[in-house]
Amino acid sequence: MKIKLRDRLSFRQAKHTVIVALVLGTMLSIGQIVYDFIVEKQTAESTNRQVVEMHLESASLAAYNLDPEQAQQVLRGLYKYLAVHRASIVSDTNEVLGDIERPLTQGPLNRANAFLFGRETQYAYSLKYEHHESIGTFNVTIDTYGTTQRLVSKAGLIIVSGVVRSFILASILMLLFYYTLTLPLLRLVSDIAAVEPQKPDQSHLEVPEAQTKTEMGLLATTLNKLLKGFTASLNARKTAEAALRASEEQYRSIFEHSTDGIFQSNAEGRFLAANPALARILGYSSPSELLDTMHDIKRQLYVNPVDRDRLLERIEADGSVKHFRTQLVRKGGSVLDVAVNMHAVHDDTQQIQYYQGNVEDITQKKKAEALRIQKDAAEAANKAKSQFLANMSHEIRTPMNGIIGNAALALDTHLTPEQYEYLQSIKISADHLLIVINDILDFSKIEAGRLELEQIDFQLRMTIENAVDTLAVKAHEKDLELVYQIPSDVPDSLIGDPGRLRQILVNLVGNAIKFTESGEVVVGCRILDRLDSSIQLQFSVTDTGPGIPNKKIESIFESFTQVDSSATRQIGGTGLGLTISKQLVSLMGGEIWAESPPGTSVDSLSPTESGPGSAFYFTIKLEVKEDMGIPPLNLDATNIRGKRILIVDDNLANRKILRDMLTNWQISHEEASDGKSALVKLEQAALVERPFDLVLSDARMPEMDGFELGQCIKENERLTSTIVIMLTSVGLRGDVNRCKAMGLSGYLVKPIKQSILLDTILMALAAGEGAVESADSPIITQHTVYEDRQRRKMKILLAEDNEINQKLAVNMLSKLGHTVTLAENGQRAIELLQSDTYDVVLMDVQMPEMDGLTATRRIRSMPSISRQLPIIAMTAHAMKGDREDCLSAGMNDYISKPFDPLQLMTLLERWDPQATPST
Ligand code: ADP
Repeated sequence: MKIKLRDRLSFRQAKHTVIVALVLGTMLSIGQIVYDFIVEKQTAESTNRQVVEMHLESASLAAYNLDPEQAQQVLRGLYKYLAVHRASIVSDTNEVLGDIERPLTQGPLNRANAFLFGRETQYAYSLKYEHHESIGTFNVTIDTYGTTQRLVSKAGLIIVSGVVRSFILASILMLLFYYTLTLPLLRLVSDIAAVEPQKPDQSHLEVPEAQTKTEMGLLATTLNKLLKGFTASLNARKTAEAALRASEEQYRSIFEHSTDGIFQSNAEGRFLAANPALARILGYSSPSELLDTMHDIKRQLYVNPVDRDRLLERIEADGSVKHFRTQLVRKGGSVLDVAVNMHAVHDDTQQIQYYQGNVEDITQKKKAEALRIQKDAAEAANKAKSQFLANMSHEIRTPMNGIIGNAALALDTHLTPEQYEYLQSIKISADHLLIVINDILDFSKIEAGRLELEQIDFQLRMTIENAVDTLAVKAHEKDLELVYQIPSDVPDSLIGDPGRLRQILVNLVGNAIKFTESGEVVVGCRILDRLDSSIQLQFSVTDTGPGIPNKKIESIFESFTQVDSSATRQIGGTGLGLTISKQLVSLMGGEIWAESPPGTSVDSLSPTESGPGSAFYFTIKLEVKEDMGIPPLNLDATNIRGKRILIVDDNLANRKILRDMLTNWQISHEEASDGKSALVKLEQAALVERPFDLVLSDARMPEMDGFELGQCIKENERLTSTIVIMLTSVGLRGDVNRCKAMGLSGYLVKPIKQSILLDTILMALAAGEGAVESADSPIITQHTVYEDRQRRKMKILLAEDNEINQKLAVNMLSKLGHTVTLAENGQRAIELLQSDTYDVVLMDVQMPEMDGLTATRRIRSMPSISRQLPIIAMTAHAMKGDREDCLSAGMNDYISKPFDPLQLMTLLERWDPQATPST
């Protein structure tokens, strides 16, 4: 933008300054002129006087002498010096001695001259001579025109110079103003002009460092501040506008896309607005169709028009209505269940302007509600079913206990062969029935989601042994080799659910034995992964049975699935075992799967000789107890660690199992894979006087079997003192006697329990000490070991209310050689404990007067009764939480009814206070 020169600030400033300067300059010039006039006047006066006075003496002389000649001379001298107009010398007698005159100077300055100096100046002196007073007068008149002329030229100079000065000053000021004011201002203006109105935040006025303190700098800084403020408010406005737009869009979107119908309607019963959802709900193709069609909402829309009146009445009373349920007619006539939320919108005068609200189609909801009620009822029924199951479990197990236990006891009495057979089949059927019942109960629990795991300390080896033990008889009946193998690096003290682990193992091993006709069943266990405090174990159960067809290998884990489900199948079962196992394994954080060599077909299911076999694997996660590892062996006086043992077995797996056990006990040992090399080893050792003390020999081996080897050892002079223990997988009638006759020390049937093997070795070494074995000395078997253990008799307090169970338990316990005192309820048990000491308390949980849990809590709070006293729960409940309840009440262990003598014996062994801890 251009500014004309005359409009420029600097020019106007300069103009005004020049005017002021001119006025001031003029005044100063006038002053100067006045001053000059005064000075000039005075100077002229004094010069005139001096010149006149210089001629005064010669004039006096001329007057004294009255000499006109002289007088004329004096006057001419004066005339030379001054602008004399007229001069005369007069004697005291008024005689004019001399006079001269010259006309006054005429010129343009006459008037000024008359004004300033009055044209002429007169001087009159009285003349004196020596002592003569007043001898005449001397008159001189001076022309002042010259003085005026000088003065005027001086004044002219003064005025001209003053004007020139003012112009120069004005120009300098103009330049100065231009550079200091106009230019920065113009720059600022162009800077401001450059500010983009839409993006003030990106523009900024530059303020040079030198100018920050100047007015211009301040102006720019202030403008910057303004710009900033402007930016902020612009941004705020933009944000607010955006938010407003967004919220409007949001509301619009909600309005457009809501699944609920949204409307505005008036008191006359017309829709003012409706969203697409409302149109859809009411069966119209678009909101506009709905608006056009609906003239009387009350009559056209409501199934019961009175509903609309009620709705409006309630809005009148309360301002709004929520979840008003009613029925509307859709286009086409169908009826719709809806919930209406509605309120009135008022104007300033509190008059209702219109109504606003939403309509929800609750037809589906109503259906869902009905379904939920049905579901609740079903769940309640399911809960009742679970409760029923718990009760049935109790009701079934109690009599089963009587049947199984009494059958077991009766079998030990003197019976005719016929009776024995009948009873045996009662026992077998009852056992089988119990398995089926347990499976069904477990399955029901899983179905009802009520199966929960325990977290308790347990010994892994003992649990596996126990599981395998239960099935050993069945394996032997079928002449199968049943072995298990636990590497020594697998920790023994773990935390988990041993009962459920045992159940899985029993199930898999049971199946393996059930389906395998010849060969072996091997149970394995190895560490898969080791974490900080937990361990992942992989178990395997392999058999040499018919295998499982590949296409069936997945489905066998499904409930009620069997590979051969024909009615004519030879092998029984519920088809639940693997389902339950799978569920249990997954609860233990693992997986279960089966492998079978390809090519196995359903046809190969029929029992043949040895089959391709199947392998079942499962993994589980268990917590490792702090004191992990195998507890150190507490060996008695027999210095077993100095002894040397030779393992003889053709089967590598079997040798490894024995090797692991002996390594655990830190007994030095060597191995031989057949009878001949065993003999060589034994002889060589005897030669170098480091004989083997004991031989653990497998009975069945190719070429030279265990019996032949035993015979050779016993017949060899150098080896007669060597103790031989025979290990067999098939206990044949007469084998024990054969061994005894040969002078062997022990005879054990596989699978071999670690504790039994150790006890056998200890007993054999103790018996062999000193004495040479003969056919008379007793041979050690599993039974001898048990009997030996039984010799440690216990004093047992039995708290049980059921008469049959009382008799059963008392019979079993007395048969094991223990003394039993009976208490018919918890209260009685406490009384008995206060008056006498017992080794173990067997406590029924459900009893009249005082139940087992209450009694245990009381006992544990009584200082007079030792806290070490083992209390073992006996319960017919097998539902979840039972074990926790018992343990938290202060009980040490748990046995669930029905139980058989072997289970009871194992349990008591565990809690025998005098028993030496075994592995
Ligand atoms: P069941 O009570 O019938 O044994 P399971 O769930 O335990 O039920 O097993 C399901 C089916 O899986 C069995 O019926 C059998 O067909 C097959 N099966 C299980 N274990 C083996 C095995 N070791 N060898 C061959 N088939 C097996």
